[in-house]
Amino acid sequence: MKQVAAVINGESIQTRNTVAVLDPSSGEVIAETPDCGPAEIDLAVSAARRASHQWRKVAVADRARILRRFAQLIERDRDDLGHLEALQTGKPLRQARRDAELTARYFDFYASAVETHYGSSIPLNADTMIFTQWEPHGVTAHVIPWNYPMQIFARTIAPALAMGNCCVLKPAEEAPLTALRLASLALEAGLPAGALNVVTGYGETAGAALTGHSDIDHISFTGSVEVGRTIARAAANRVIPVTLELGGKSPNIVFADADMERAVPGVVNAILQMAGQTCSAGSRLLVHESVHDILVERIQQAFANVTIGPALSDLTLGPLISQAQRSRVLSFLDEARGNGAKIVAGGSALNGGVFGEGFFLQPTLIDDVDPDSPLGQEEVFGPVLAVTRFRDIDEAVQFANGTDYGLVAGVWTRDLSTAHRMIREVLAGQVFVNTYGASGGVELPFGGFKRSGYGREKGAEGLRSFAQIKTGVVAL
Ligand code: NAP
Ligand code: MG
Repeated sequence: MKQVAAVINGESIQTRNTVAVLDPSSGEVIAETPDCGPAEIDLAVSAARRASHQWRKVAVADRARILRRFAQLIERDRDDLGHLEALQTGKPLRQARRDAELTARYFDFYASAVETHYGSSIPLNADTMIFTQWEPHGVTAHVIPWNYPMQIFARTIAPALAMGNCCVLKPAEEAPLTALRLASLALEAGLPAGALNVVTGYGETAGAALTGHSDIDHISFTGSVEVGRTIARAAANRVIPVTLELGGKSPNIVFADADMERAVPGVVNAILQMAGQTCSAGSRLLVHESVHDILVERIQQAFANVTIGPALSDLTLGPLISQAQRSRVLSFLDEARGNGAKIVAGGSALNGGVFGEGFFLQPTLIDDVDPDSPLGQEEVFGPVLAVTRFRDIDEAVQFANGTDYGLVAGVWTRDLSTAHRMIREVLAGQVFVNTYGASGGVELPFGGFKRSGYGREKGAEGLRSFAQIKTGVVAL
């Protein structure tokens, strides 16, 4: 079995106990990673603290140069990184390779963004010189989920390092391998030892020890609402800032005048990418009653044509991340059947043959979902699309905003006024019209309304989460 080490202060660190990493396409163990606890977290945080005294003083151009070199190394190793990401997450190979490209893009983008990230001067009066400057927090803690390990690593680490912070990251126990590989590449790029540490292990132990550590200055968390609450409490105890990127129950809203040639593939891809295990998955389809039947029929056809198989065979749909996740999704389907919803496509686990012991599930379409039922309200995190019809734009807005979440939304219409009205009225961090997602969207500020979280990552906005502003006042 392959033993992979944590990266602390530029060194490989092992622990006596380990955590197994499975290939969800086969159910087989592919690696063992360290089961870090408070001792390793302490080492990592103190390494980051020591490094931060130097790193914050490195000239912006030199920091940017190292980040650009890091981006080049990620591009050089794109195929290896993509292969590893596909293996540990179950996502189709070409999606994983694309994730590697986006990972490189984050480091390029933030290298450039930080070089033009200036403070301002404030013209109070003739006798005073006032200016603002951005300063790093110091040591930043990062806890990330298993669905997009490389992309989320990059979107949180790139701006943090660019602003002069030093980082300790804990990936999810299910998919820690690419984060560890990236930490080694960062050293090869010339990042000082200790500036970026990756500690593995369980959330309740490694994650809790990191987010509860007395010497961190900021937390960036991406994951579920439930764990987000725990982390926000840990941050509140020590009065440090936290960015929460949490879950979603995002709607695709299809009006009667929508261009179905665009809407059908848009809606299908929004729920099948990463087998629906995406925070911004378009997991609810709100459709005008006049086009309901035709749209449902076309999605049924599209689902019937989806190719399903192991990540490395690079088809459209891979497995879910774990047996536990598949059971959770299936329990939503049982509940929906009991609530009078109609399963019009899929609905079952897939086993045997090419599916072997992997955690596969059919793409599933459920019609006439009560918007107030669990399937209409809760994040399922699987390839399951819940359909609800609406009568008019007011009802569409009411249903769209009728959950606790507000991460993203898609609107499909040819009418300019409907499009803009929806952008204004839907409570979500990103609203797309006649498209969904933005191929990674490195440049676009991203984050939640309501329980989808607070703070923003991505885009130039993302730099601000990793810096604090200081005002200097000089009497002349
Ligand atoms: P999760 O269960 O909340 O776990 C996220 C991370 O938190 C993992 O690294 C986990 O470690 C760690 N963790 C668990 N308990 C902890 C604790 N008590 N203290 C500190 N850390 C702890 O989420 P997940 O199952 O990995 O990912 C799925 C969720 O992430 C979904 O809700 C999804 O919507 C959300 N998500 C949001 C975004 C976004 O940008 N808004 C993006 C992707 C995913 P272990 O797993 O190792 O225990
Ligand atoms: Mg987990």
